[in-house]
Amino acid sequence: MDYQSDIVVIGAGPAGLSFAREFADNPLKIIIVEQLPQSVLENPPFDAREIALTHLSREIMQNLGIWQQVPEDQIFRLKEAKVVNGTSPYQLHFPQPKKARGGATDRLGYLIPNHRIREAAYAVVKDQPNVAILTERKVGEVKTFDDSVRVSLDNGDTITAKLLVCADSRFSTTRDKIGIPTDMHRFGRTVITFRVRHTESNGHAAFECFHYGRTLAILPLTEFMSNMVITIDSDKADKILQLDDEALAQDIYRETDGRLGDITVASTRHTYPLVGTHARRFFAERAALIGDASVGMHPVTAHGFNLGLEGADILAKQIIQAAAKGKDIGGKSVLETYNFKHMLNTRPIYHGTNVVVKLFTNESSPARLLRSAVLRVSNNLPPVKMLISHQLTG
Ligand SMILES: Cc1cc2nc3c(=O)[nH]c(=O)nc-3n(C[C@H](O)[C@H](O)[C@H](O)COP(=O)(O)OP(=O)(O)OC[C@H]3O[C@@H](n4cnc5c(N)ncnc54)[C@H](O)[C@@H]3O)c2cc1C
Repeated sequence: MDYQSDIVVIGAGPAGLSFAREFADNPLKIIIVEQLPQSVLENPPFDAREIALTHLSREIMQNLGIWQQVPEDQIFRLKEAKVVNGTSPYQLHFPQPKKARGGATDRLGYLIPNHRIREAAYAVVKDQPNVAILTERKVGEVKTFDDSVRVSLDNGDTITAKLLVCADSRFSTTRDKIGIPTDMHRFGRTVITFRVRHTESNGHAAFECFHYGRTLAILPLTEFMSNMVITIDSDKADKILQLDDEALAQDIYRETDGRLGDITVASTRHTYPLVGTHARRFFAERAALIGDASVGMHPVTAHGFNLGLEGADILAKQIIQAAAKGKDIGGKSVLETYNFKHMLNTRPIYHGTNVVVKLFTNESSPARLLRSAVLRVSNNLPPVKMLISHQLTG
């Protein structure tokens, strides 16, 4: 079958679906191609990723109607955040803000499980009249012409559109097909993440503990349930994965110095190999990259989907403006403007995050001292702290 559309999006992940939702009140036609079956999009499985969202992301998701689809008891308050270095009792503290977008000053941000975001995004897009989702399909060849782009699928179907949008993850194969070079950093580390229940309150505070040898992030869900994110050298990950629930609970008890009381493991464990990616540019002829396909962040600063939402929002607004003026929606000026604006957001955060990761995973004595100095300087220099807080709250 040969389909015609204005935009073809590859990937029905949170970024691809949010992008499509931006066109809810617009006549432009969109086809989304997704390799997963419809049943998984409708009911995505728990993946132990709890996504920290800024106030700006909440605003974008509310405007798209996605936020309203998430059950209220699945939106968790992130009141404040603390960063701890090794065994030092000194903490870098980000308190709840004095000012925040939308006025919710009782929190730095929000936490929502990734599978709930996926579920909500699919729920709002699935009945959108100008969107068709082709599931269980992968992209074959991509061919670009002066005024269109043609995507062939693995079942022989083709889609012709004015613009191709790649939202097919940080390992995007479509990005390779359209010839966009990408910087990729393999950290050699693995993230192990799971939920625990505990008998002491977490105070709705997130903790990032840069212990020597491994990093432990504690993300507060309910007052007595938190998500644990262990980052460790990949060759040591199996040792943790092989622990039974009781031994793992004891391990977390030790790592948290008993601060959360008695621990019980409360979910399955999930692992993610750590790979950071940044495309050198976010567009090619008649094509753009969004979401992790544009920038795949290290999760330590919790920016990945926040940046993905912002990028999708910027690109959609450029396209809608161009269409309203009768301009080519896949033309160079739309894509260059998107590239410029999104790069301004992503480059400092991507490289800044990688520098932080490098410093806080370096176990040499000078690095340990520098880590401690960085925390103290950040705590005591209001402009530095404000900058980081502003970034956290969006
Ligand atoms: C442990 C962890 C914690 C995180 N914490 C945070 C956080 O606190 N805050 C935050 O903002 N972000 C966080 N992130 C990042 C966030 O999860 C990602 O940025 C976000 O999920 C990316 O969405 P996406 O739609 O771009 O890509 P994905 O979620 O990867 O979706 C891509 C979609 O494309 C489909 N696809 C892939 N290839 C093809 C193909 N060839 N053809 C068709 N379909 C294809 C896939 O099946 C998938 O549905 C975290 C990530 C991890 C791993």
